[in-house]
Amino acid sequence: MSVHNHSEWKALAAGLTPRHQMFINGRYQDAASGKTFASVNPATDAVLAQVSEGDGEDIDRAVIAARTAFEKGVWSRESPQHRKAVLLRLAELIRANLDELALLDSMDMGKPVEDAANVDVPGSAMFFQWYAEAIDKIYDEIAPTGEGDLALVRREPLGVVGAVVPWNFPLDMATWKAAAALAVGNSMVLKPAEQSPLSALRLAELAMEAGLPEGVFNVVPGYGETAGKALGLHQDVDCLAFTGSTAVGKMFQQYAGLSNMKQVWLETGGKSPNLIFADCKDLDAAAAMAAFGIFFNQGEVCSANSRLLVERSIHEEFVARMITHAKAHQPGDPLNPDTKMGAIVSQEQLDRMAAMVEEGKTYADCVIGGETVKIDGKGCFIQPTIFDHVPPSSALAKDEIFGPVLSVIPFDSEDEAVAMANDSIYGLAASLWTGDLSRAHRVSRRLQAGTVSVNTVDALSPMTPFGGFKQSGYGRDLSLHAIDKYTALKTTWIKY
Ligand code: NAD
Repeated sequence: MSVHNHSEWKALAAGLTPRHQMFINGRYQDAASGKTFASVNPATDAVLAQVSEGDGEDIDRAVIAARTAFEKGVWSRESPQHRKAVLLRLAELIRANLDELALLDSMDMGKPVEDAANVDVPGSAMFFQWYAEAIDKIYDEIAPTGEGDLALVRREPLGVVGAVVPWNFPLDMATWKAAAALAVGNSMVLKPAEQSPLSALRLAELAMEAGLPEGVFNVVPGYGETAGKALGLHQDVDCLAFTGSTAVGKMFQQYAGLSNMKQVWLETGGKSPNLIFADCKDLDAAAAMAAFGIFFNQGEVCSANSRLLVERSIHEEFVARMITHAKAHQPGDPLNPDTKMGAIVSQEQLDRMAAMVEEGKTYADCVIGGETVKIDGKGCFIQPTIFDHVPPSSALAKDEIFGPVLSVIPFDSEDEAVAMANDSIYGLAASLWTGDLSRAHRVSRRLQAGTVSVNTVDALSPMTPFGGFKQSGYGRDLSLHAIDKYTALKTTWIKY
């Protein structure tokens, strides 16, 4: 059901006044340099705001604010019940400001506003609520040391957590880090992606309104090579949680080694396979979900099912079904509730994926799409695109395109399907469709992926860990396991 109709969303968008300054120590402020950068709506090419451009000096100010708050104990030493109450209020404030937050993400990075309103914003509220509710139900340990000793094993917050996040789910990626890190008592400095800083800047204000003390949650927008790097290299940041590309993830490992050996947690790229076996009970449902798996959020999803491996006996029929379902994902105005696919985040990203598509046309069959488009003469859009008969060793089969581009590869046996699925530097997610329960278990055990979805795609919940194998990173977001990233175990021995 639509949250608003097209004209209502347009009217709400016209009345939007995005926060554009960085948020440090509980107040909005300009960058020390006074510099700004333009935040552009990729669907209309319009400038939404001139955003403060943080660099090393601003990151330093934010880290000092975060450290000071941490040392004062205004959040870190508050009771779990208190932190729970504040984060539950934040979840409610996110819900109360749903329209605004949905519009900020939609206009900043191009996703359909109805998706932001139905998925991203409720998701963010749910993640804060989930960690809030969890935090006073986690007990520490007493080690079985025997008579004469008492050894307590406690989880303690790390201190200052830095987070650097991408633009594909701006509010949710920030929340995945912040909800768990804040719930256990850390202070934070968040650097949103330069393409999409607006929802994080508003989130910081809502967090203060909910009762988070000043300095606990700071947001410094800016470029990766300056602000992101400064956070990665900072000597007083205890932990750096990153979501983004594999190439930049590797840089954060270097930054840690070059500075204070801070813990680095990486959620990086993917080239997730979706395996369709001929014994799948409902091929049309599988095709509809496979289309969703690659075209949702313009394919700008780390776990997008971008490789479709289809058993040869159903290959032609399945591709025909995919073409039909792809047609339902034509790009359109993100503010129109009927739009299933919005704009690509930036001209730079569109050019990059268009070049990969053009090159792909020289060696694989482009069976639908393959062209960039304008809507009302504006914006960065591309058609839903499917390549068939993709050579398994080609760029279309190996490289993350991070757009609505699907590569189809037929297979002849289960072993071949598993081998092809695992033939990737990535291991974030995988899906498989089969009516054979034994095969479902057998194949899902053999797939090298952090999440395997059987007879669905991209299954995800706050209750289950999310993250990758291989060069898709390490450490897990979501679930209680995420708390391990933001706490250190401390053992205290007491001699009787
Ligand atoms: P990116 O790596 O270019 O940027 C991510 C963040 O890193 C941004 O905030 C950016 O400013 C910062 N950054 C860039 N260069 C930097 C540098 N030299 N030093 C420090 N920081 C730097 O990624 P992107 O294009 O924004 O996002 C797309 C990528 O994110 C894809 O590879 C996608 O798979 C990945 N992603 C992964 C997950 C996951 O959970 N595994 C989720 C979403 C996106």
